[in-house]
Amino acid sequence: MDKIEINSLTLQELKSFMQDIGEKPFRGEQVFSYFNRNLKLDISELNLLPIELRKTLIDIVVVNHIDLLERFDSKLDKTNKYLFRLEDGNIIESVFMEYKHGNTACISTQVGCKMGCAFCASTKDGLIRHLSPAEMVNQVYMMEKDKGLEISNIVLMGSGEPLDNYDKVLKFIDIIHDEKGHNISLRNITLSTCGLVPKIYDLAKENLPITLSISLHSPFDEERMKIMPIAKRYKLKELLEACKYYGDSNNRRITFEYTLIEGVNDGEREVDELSKILKGINAHINLIPLNPIKEYNKERPERTNVERFQKMLLRRNLPATIRREMGSDISASCGQLRRRVVEKE
Ligand code: SAH
Repeated sequence: MDKIEINSLTLQELKSFMQDIGEKPFRGEQVFSYFNRNLKLDISELNLLPIELRKTLIDIVVVNHIDLLERFDSKLDKTNKYLFRLEDGNIIESVFMEYKHGNTACISTQVGCKMGCAFCASTKDGLIRHLSPAEMVNQVYMMEKDKGLEISNIVLMGSGEPLDNYDKVLKFIDIIHDEKGHNISLRNITLSTCGLVPKIYDLAKENLPITLSISLHSPFDEERMKIMPIAKRYKLKELLEACKYYGDSNNRRITFEYTLIEGVNDGEREVDELSKILKGINAHINLIPLNPIKEYNKERPERTNVERFQKMLLRRNLPATIRREMGSDISASCGQLRRRVVEKE
């Protein structure tokens, strides 16, 4: 039987685990804080535990580690992109960004992705595997330790579809939010999805005040289907109903990501339709100029056209911002860095 990965356990699970092996629950709390507050991983040095218990744990559990493979520093801003090597040799990427509202970690939730969006580098080799909760928290902790700075915001916008790895992503959120650990506010966590409708309802029912971000990219089903295979499974009508349900039950504004692709989805026709379909939803649109990848033969619109698109949205009373391009000199978005390295190897 596989050994338990102990730093993937939530506080509750760690307490029950301790009880299962005949220990008091507070031992679970000590171990949890050691991992998630002190950011230490070596059980043999956890001096609060009796030596016998340390020995037992070392026999019966494993502690997940990830290794820093390479860091790329932007010369344009303070963004750092990280490549980490997982214990099985897989490589993932994460990003550290400094914003006015706090230091932000963009982390991956899967190795690869099976969603198949046309313009996204992360999905080109399909899904390799899900990440464990420990592999997700470790991305945050490794970047904090490397930078010597605290991270207060998390965006689940790296490689992978978080709602396709639902249970482990929820455990990650539970762990990183716990006040006995890192204590990151749920309001400072954003989960981005291409639109797995049933999982959006599940997430709404968890009643967590995290920000939901939907990758919309087109207000027309037939156009959306051409760039996002998930659109064949769930029509916009169903997706937007789910968003409304989420927004109403959590009283949260929903963010819609809209990657602008020249000549594909950047016209007035799209703006008109967006204003129709988003009526009644407390929405914010985040415009992302396309980061061209070699597998997708399209360009980003000129900056003036991006701004024009934004103005047209604002004129229709749709709040819209243009995503500031972070670290554009150190290989653009989502999975491009990892892919370059994996291809080289
Ligand atoms: N699977 C999640 C998280 C993915 S990445 C999702 O689909 O939302 C976060 C955002 O970056 C998504 O909106 C995604 O569509 C977008 N994105 C991916 N590749 C891109 C590229 N090359 N240029 C611009 N945006 C991209």
